[in-house]
Amino acid sequence: MSDIFVTQPSMPDFDEYTEILKNLWQTKYLTNMGKYHKIFQDRLRDFLETDNIELFVNGHMAIELSLQAFNFPPGTEIITTPFTFASTTHAIVRNNLKPVFCDIDPENFTLDAGKIENLITKKTAAIMPVHVYGNICAVEKISVLAEKYNLKIIYDAAHAFGEKYKGKSVANFGDVSCFSFHSTKVFHSIEGGAACFRDKKSGRKLYHLKNFGISGPENVDGIGANAKMNEFCAAMGICNLKNFERDISAREKIYRRYIENLDGIAGLKLNFIPAEVKSNYGYFPVIFNPEICGATRDKVFADLENIGVHARKYFYPLTNAFDCYKGIFNPKDTPTALKISDRVLTLPIYPNLPEETVDKICEEIRRTLGKL
Ligand SMILES: *Cc1c(COP(=O)(O)O)cnc(C)c1O
Repeated sequence: MSDIFVTQPSMPDFDEYTEILKNLWQTKYLTNMGKYHKIFQDRLRDFLETDNIELFVNGHMAIELSLQAFNFPPGTEIITTPFTFASTTHAIVRNNLKPVFCDIDPENFTLDAGKIENLITKKTAAIMPVHVYGNICAVEKISVLAEKYNLKIIYDAAHAFGEKYKGKSVANFGDVSCFSFHSTKVFHSIEGGAACFRDKKSGRKLYHLKNFGISGPENVDGIGANAKMNEFCAAMGICNLKNFERDISAREKIYRRYIENLDGIAGLKLNFIPAEVKSNYGYFPVIFNPEICGATRDKVFADLENIGVHARKYFYPLTNAFDCYKGIFNPKDTPTALKISDRVLTLPIYPNLPEETVDKICEEIRRTLGKL
């Protein structure tokens, strides 16, 4: 068996992509909010059923600049989760704001909404939850808290592209929802990202911040970054968007195959999708309880590596355990997240993954657990 990675990017039809490239060779308009940037942004606005959207060079800059757009004073507290990718926490710290880590729900691994209120202080200005693995956060409870304490909500929706909750597009929760179109995500534009937002005025600010704070040919009135999406990436996004629903159906088949193989094994917790969620099947996390299942997560990981299957420990370590935050944050403050992070493994899932490979991966896991 050749090496199997946790994911593999979907590629569009080669000729379709190169047709667009031919136009770029003619116009030589390669970036700075060109024709394909506009087309891609318009298509995404429709697809995500949102009113306001701004494209970015990547998901991280969508998050970092969305936070900057609120102009919170330095030291403002943002309640967030440590069970996420580096980007979420770094975006807060890089804005001179203070992440306050809330523990996660042991069932769906997103912020434990019941633990947020205790962490709110006079300095709290926002909540930054993450729809981890595409599991939708407790959006209703979080909204109630935000309203009660006058807090902003910025969703890191990097895992949740194309999803719906109770029929509503995930782009429409909170004040801002940020997506990543990185090649490792369910939908990609090579690198890319977007912010969908409630307040139309935020759009002006985000556009401004992604383009150096330039307000006119001879005016720069903001301290912006350069976070524009180029035309090659926009073109890739346009082509890939056409295949998205097909890709999701293929992923759903893989998801079901894993469930058939692994459901019922004692000590394994699988990520079941609630009826009110239309999932994108982006990740297949498994939680291994070593006291019951017969092996640690690390042993399963190592045995899979030995047969060329590269599963990933998403998310280990927690962001509040990173070396760069040593002595500043303490992972023991979020014991549930710490425990899950020591036990979780995400298994390969992507549209072209053969079902026989899924069976082999599951057979290897059962061998490790002594259940063959
Ligand atoms: C991928 C990811 C990001 C960052 O997106 P990029 O496009 O890689 O910058 C942010 N948050 C989470 C949870 C992610 O998985």
